[in-house]
Amino acid sequence: MSKPMQMVDLKSQYHRIKDEINEAILHVIDQGQFIKGPEVKQFEEGLRNYLDVGHVIACANGTDALQVAMMALSLKPGDEVIVPVFTYIATAEVIGLLGLKPVMVDVEPDMFCIDASKIEEVITPNTKAIVPVHLFGQCANMDAVMMIAQKHGLFVIEDAAQAIGSRYTFEDGKTLSAGCIGDMGTTSFFPSKNLGCYGDGGAIFTNQNEWADRLRMICNHGQKVQYVHDVIGVNSRLDTLQAAILNVKLGELDRYESARNQAATWYDQSLSGLEWLDIPRRRENSTHVFHQYTIKVKDGREKRDAIRSELAKRGIPSMIYYPIPLHQQKAFNTGSYPTGTFPVSEHLCDCVLSLPIHTEMDLEMVKTIAHNLIEVYQDLQ
Ligand SMILES: *Cc1c(COP(=O)(O)O)cnc(C)c1O
Repeated sequence: MSKPMQMVDLKSQYHRIKDEINEAILHVIDQGQFIKGPEVKQFEEGLRNYLDVGHVIACANGTDALQVAMMALSLKPGDEVIVPVFTYIATAEVIGLLGLKPVMVDVEPDMFCIDASKIEEVITPNTKAIVPVHLFGQCANMDAVMMIAQKHGLFVIEDAAQAIGSRYTFEDGKTLSAGCIGDMGTTSFFPSKNLGCYGDGGAIFTNQNEWADRLRMICNHGQKVQYVHDVIGVNSRLDTLQAAILNVKLGELDRYESARNQAATWYDQSLSGLEWLDIPRRRENSTHVFHQYTIKVKDGREKRDAIRSELAKRGIPSMIYYPIPLHQQKAFNTGSYPTGTFPVSEHLCDCVLSLPIHTEMDLEMVKTIAHNLIEVYQDLQ
């Protein structure tokens, strides 16, 4: 192998757009407007058009985006917010941080997103919102989530940190972008995300003007007019340098999505038909932007972990997203969710393995990874 394999290859990605990126960065430095420069508005507008959504409010990172969206709902301590139990910590962390109660729901075994058929059984008079997570790059079952939310009068905040650009088609034929379906949606521009900047960044989406005003106000210390503070807010903004970088990279996002899908298809071709693993399944009514290509090793944790370390010895990285479900995290384990409460998520944590996938992969790399994966498994028998 010419260069070491990586989960993501941001350096090669940069080299393809180096001149444009450098120029954009130098322009910001030359102008000197590092906060609230014109690039921020330009990016919000560009992304708004790309997603076809009413409003994009840029902020400091994807976790802030979730927190600000949650703050906008003006919930009171003890109010309940429904989250999938198999997700990144940030989704539930902000709920706990605001004194709200995360109520966990198991996920679909083959799609990794919240199992909508298990939502209604946890709804109580205190339930106020549902936070579906579009995990690994494809949308949750939004027909069901929106129907339940409407029926019970609940807010929906979508966590689209891993699914920017994914499109969901409803049963009635209507197609919307991930994050632009519920009351509000959030995303992250963390460097390794599908639309990544060169530091931290995030955004909130909404189609409703009132939410948009409120979100902007909360991101800006709760003020609409300078030094007049209507609510307790936060300081959360995307800096101008990051916006300038994102303006360039937004122009590449379609290409990034195709490159990731191409890599996923190559993986599918190399790995389908093996009885010891499951390749990721695509939902019929959602496009997949393959933030992760996650297989399931049916033999379970011990074999999965052994495969992972043997691959590492051969210079092939892989990751476990995620090793521990939320209800077994010390930060949340209040004793209300004993082991066995969420069998699907608990099982997934034992068998998922995410393989390298990024915008710079070629067929040779995928073949090498697949070949080694199969060989390592056979050696372990
Ligand atoms: C990355 C991520 C976040 C948080 O984004 P940051 O920008 O790192 O704060 C939230 N939710 C999910 C599902 C993520 O993958």
